[in-house]
Amino acid sequence: MRTLPDRLRAHGVVGAGGAGFPAYVKAQAEAEIVIVNAAECEPLLHKDKELLHHFQDRILDGLRQLMAEVGATRGIVAIKEKYTDRIAALREALEHEPNLEVVLLGDFYPAGDEFLTIYEATGRVVPPGGLPLDVGCIVSNVETLMNVSLDEPVTHKYLTVGGFVPHPVTVRAPIGISYAEVLTAVGVDLTAIGGVLEGGVMMGKLVSDLQAVITRTTGALLCFPEDHGLLRRYSVEKVTRDKIGKSACDQCSFCTELCPRYLLGHPVEPHLAMRGLEFNMVGDGMVLGSSFCCECNLCTLYACPEDLFPKDACADNKVMMRLKGLEHPAKGKPSKPHSMADYRHVPVASLMKKLDLVRFENTGPLVEVDWQPDQVAIPLKQHIGAPAVASVKLGAFVRAGEPIGAAPDGLGVAVHASIGGTVVAVGESIVIRRGL
Ligand code: SF4
Ligand code: SF4
Repeated sequence: MRTLPDRLRAHGVVGAGGAGFPAYVKAQAEAEIVIVNAAECEPLLHKDKELLHHFQDRILDGLRQLMAEVGATRGIVAIKEKYTDRIAALREALEHEPNLEVVLLGDFYPAGDEFLTIYEATGRVVPPGGLPLDVGCIVSNVETLMNVSLDEPVTHKYLTVGGFVPHPVTVRAPIGISYAEVLTAVGVDLTAIGGVLEGGVMMGKLVSDLQAVITRTTGALLCFPEDHGLLRRYSVEKVTRDKIGKSACDQCSFCTELCPRYLLGHPVEPHLAMRGLEFNMVGDGMVLGSSFCCECNLCTLYACPEDLFPKDACADNKVMMRLKGLEHPAKGKPSKPHSMADYRHVPVASLMKKLDLVRFENTGPLVEVDWQPDQVAIPLKQHIGAPAVASVKLGAFVRAGEPIGAAPDGLGVAVHASIGGTVVAVGESIVIRRGL
């Protein structure tokens, strides 16, 4: 019989919250606590809440399986206190399991950042540049644990379609179909929308091509009208961002004072990264803390009164630091939360107001869609690590669920067909056309 890590690798289970980290690696570790990250703190997202509503037993089964595998003695479901019906159902289900508990999170962003989730749920602080395992924890997303429970390959992905749409919904879509097909299937008129953010309004990406495909990490497609400010913000090129930053940043430090990682005691100071734009001080110790930025985007989309881009300044620094092999001396050292850490949470309601999201319906019930794609294009790389290795040939017939890419040597997982059909292209993606 295969062990859980082997099964997760063969079934292609990866972090479904957006990170895409292969789940088998976490299952190979030893940890004291496994935390179910049910915070879902990105505005307009409803996928995880819907999964808990419909598949709570499977998610809890995944939690128990992972706990048993890593030797954890405590399991925590970390969920926002506003989800009262889900909390009641979870507490009832866990009533007779003293090692499993529900911990309530405030309705703030980014409560789902795993370092913050750990701090809120356990009081432990992951060191800068460290891992949850450094404090005895494993954090897993709701959908990932559901996939741990289901003893089958991952061929579909749950995602919320929301924002400027007739009816926001959560759907289970075959991996490899295009964004355009998903949007059209749920009633979105592609000619009426100005743009789409994939993943979320805070940490997502502006979609440049609606023919891009659903992968194992696609959590949301959020549509916006042409004149929406978020589309403008996401469209600004680096050269313009830097130019505006150099001239308009007044070093007020609001970006740093509200930075959740800074408040956790990590030496992330985005205002210094902005100052670095002016003086190009990468490498002299002033902006090395950027490497501890989790790219939550709070500084850029909420804190900065000038609408500048401190997150991008940090992200650019991270890249340069990697290239130069630089590290902050605080990496891996214990840190202590800021005295204001518990008082500077940014409520999601305020964030939604600031981002002009209140005008959109904030729901996303799970609905069934009868998908009939003519073809799917399934990328061999949908996860952190090396791409899967194509294991089918042009012209081969594959059934839904069959492996089409084998797990590579080193970090990586297998990839599977989401529909039955004929392989018509083998490259970075395997294209399968329905029928023989
Ligand atoms: S980037 Fe914005 S918030 Fe940060 S220091 Fe500059 S003006 Fe202030
Ligand atoms: S994106 Fe900004 S607020 Fe978020 S961790 Fe990075 S520096 Fe801090």
